[in-house]
Amino acid sequence: MVDQPATNQPSAFDSSSPSPYAIDRLRARFSDPETERAFRASEAGTTRRHLRVALAAWAFLVMLFAIPDYVALNGTGTAFYSLMAMRVATTALVLVFVALTFWRPQLCEHDGALAALQAVGISGFFLVYLMRPDVAPYNVATTLVMIIGLYLLLPNLLTWASALAAYLAVGSLISIRVVLDVNATELVSVGILLSLPIIVGLLVAHRLQMLRRRQFALLAKTRATNAELADEVKWRRRLERELERQAGTDLLTGVYNRRGYEPLLARAFERVKRHGGDLAVAVLDLDHFKALNDTHGHDAGDQVLQHLAQQWQSALRATDIVGRLGGEEFVVIMPDTTLESAVESMEQLRAMAASASVTVADHALHVTMTVGVTANRPHDSGFNDLLRRADNALYRGKEAGRNRVVRDDGATA
Ligand code: GH3
Ligand code: MG
Ligand code: MG
Repeated sequence: MVDQPATNQPSAFDSSSPSPYAIDRLRARFSDPETERAFRASEAGTTRRHLRVALAAWAFLVMLFAIPDYVALNGTGTAFYSLMAMRVATTALVLVFVALTFWRPQLCEHDGALAALQAVGISGFFLVYLMRPDVAPYNVATTLVMIIGLYLLLPNLLTWASALAAYLAVGSLISIRVVLDVNATELVSVGILLSLPIIVGLLVAHRLQMLRRRQFALLAKTRATNAELADEVKWRRRLERELERQAGTDLLTGVYNRRGYEPLLARAFERVKRHGGDLAVAVLDLDHFKALNDTHGHDAGDQVLQHLAQQWQSALRATDIVGRLGGEEFVVIMPDTTLESAVESMEQLRAMAASASVTVADHALHVTMTVGVTANRPHDSGFNDLLRRADNALYRGKEAGRNRVVRDDGATA
């Protein structure tokens, strides 16, 4: 039997079941947590590399701005020291996080941990507003860049990035209100300014996330379709082979039919013709089989045929080929076998049949057979020459009284 290809997996063509590749448009992530996990796993290498670089750049920039602090604050005083402490603490925290990601790479996908790290960093940043009111306008510019950076740093979770961006924007507005004498209109203007990168960042990141997931889904679907096609092709090939095998097999006895054995005989004949060697062919015919049918019924005859065919197949060598010529007549093709050995083999088969009985429906049926055997000769022009000689020998065996093996030179085994 040839099994159908497995169909229990969701098909790439199947539109009835909910697709595992459906994307939650609002959050720009796969609705199916399993697919989202697979997507993140596929992106993990790149995400980790980018995240480490971005965090290291963040730490570098935080320390770099200590230089203008030093120049503006003369390198001393509470403001300089508290800013320096914040910068060192932030940098250390970020670098420790980066170091930890080498030990535990999954940290890079831990949105909560990343968000917490950034929340701490952002909180420290508010200190710059408070300690350096002189550079508040520059700080607003820095805040704008930081907001964009947030969307890059939290590539897979837009909600976290938006929450942090909002925290950064609101915190900045409060800080500005505290340190500078700004009126409501100015504060609203800065608020609008700060909301711009949030909107742009969110839209761009959203688009990017959707795009990457669509690409992933497309690739996964293509792979699934290819796998299904490969399965289908494999199954069809197996089916073809099975049909071919069945077409060359006799349904009743399971041995080769003419379609099955003839090409094998032709190939064996061509081989000995070209390279020399031995090839023996025997034709077997059951004796008085019509009488057996008449006495015990056609079904009993069928069972005898099945029994004998199986017996011969197991008694002969694996390289020998048993075929059914038709009716109660069989052929045995014996490659690399001399006439003498073939006669010996056939004598064994004949003796086996003659000495034992086949039990069918509680009746012990005795069957004998006559066999004609031949082997290849230099002047043979085709395998039919061998079949004809074996058949002639068989005929002589029938004439001589049946239940015997006859060689093509007329000699009886
Ligand atoms: P002989 O010894 O001369 O070979 O006698 P025989 O009766 O075997 O030969 P004959 O050619 O007269 O008859 C062959 C019989 O084989 C005829 C038919 O009843 C039987 N036979 C042919 N094919 C099948 C088959 O598929 N199943 C069964 N049960 N019998 C078959
Ligand atoms: Mg017969
Ligand atoms: Mg016959």
